[in-house]
Amino acid sequence: MQKIIAGLVEFKKNHQKSFIEDFPDLISGQNPLALLIVCCDSRIMPTISTQIGPGDLFVLRNIGNLVPPYDYINQGNAFKHSSVVAALEFALLYLNVPNIIICGHSECGAMKYLLDNKEVPDTPFLHNWISEAKGVYNNFIESGVDKTNVNAHNQLSKLNVMHQLENLMTFPIVLDRLNNGSLQIHGWWLDISNYNVYHLMNDTGEFLEINENTAPDIIKRLYKYDSVI
Ligand SMILES: [Zn+2]
Repeated sequence: MQKIIAGLVEFKKNHQKSFIEDFPDLISGQNPLALLIVCCDSRIMPTISTQIGPGDLFVLRNIGNLVPPYDYINQGNAFKHSSVVAALEFALLYLNVPNIIICGHSECGAMKYLLDNKEVPDTPFLHNWISEAKGVYNNFIESGVDKTNVNAHNQLSKLNVMHQLENLMTFPIVLDRLNNGSLQIHGWWLDISNYNVYHLMNDTGEFLEINENTAPDIIKRLYKYDSVI
């Protein structure tokens, strides 16, 4: 804890005053640009990679960046996944976020767990949670991919982003907004080895690196998500 507490002291001493002065409007409320659904992995720092500040991203973090499908939640599993649904409802109904981004990443422990396909002793809740993505794993295996390939977990992670977007679209509050044009949903994938972020192009199913050359085209082609699976 020493490092964390020392950081708080350093922030208070050298940054807190100017930090607060930069966002007087945010004290009374927030108007974020997007709901970002991202893994808990400590190596992911969304505000660093996007270079945006306080108030811009409403963030839901969970292991594997999962969104269980609406029907499953609606069939008596609401409490089990209440944090996911509550964040979704709050972001859409209270904050009217115009974008939802689901971001997967390389070297994801959840994807490695899925690939191992066996329960680690004494982790019933973890196993239960990650099993929500079992359909992604099955789809992955059925596609004939070699699961022993050194990059299999990263391929699975990209497929997982697509699946979670599909699940997101099963929520009526998401579909309504997609249909009336007030919401767009996007798939991203972060490569931790170089911190490149890739945007899922849903006309091709490819993840395209976001950089100064590709950004104009990506922005021009932003659209409602339509399945590529
Ligand atoms: Zn992860």
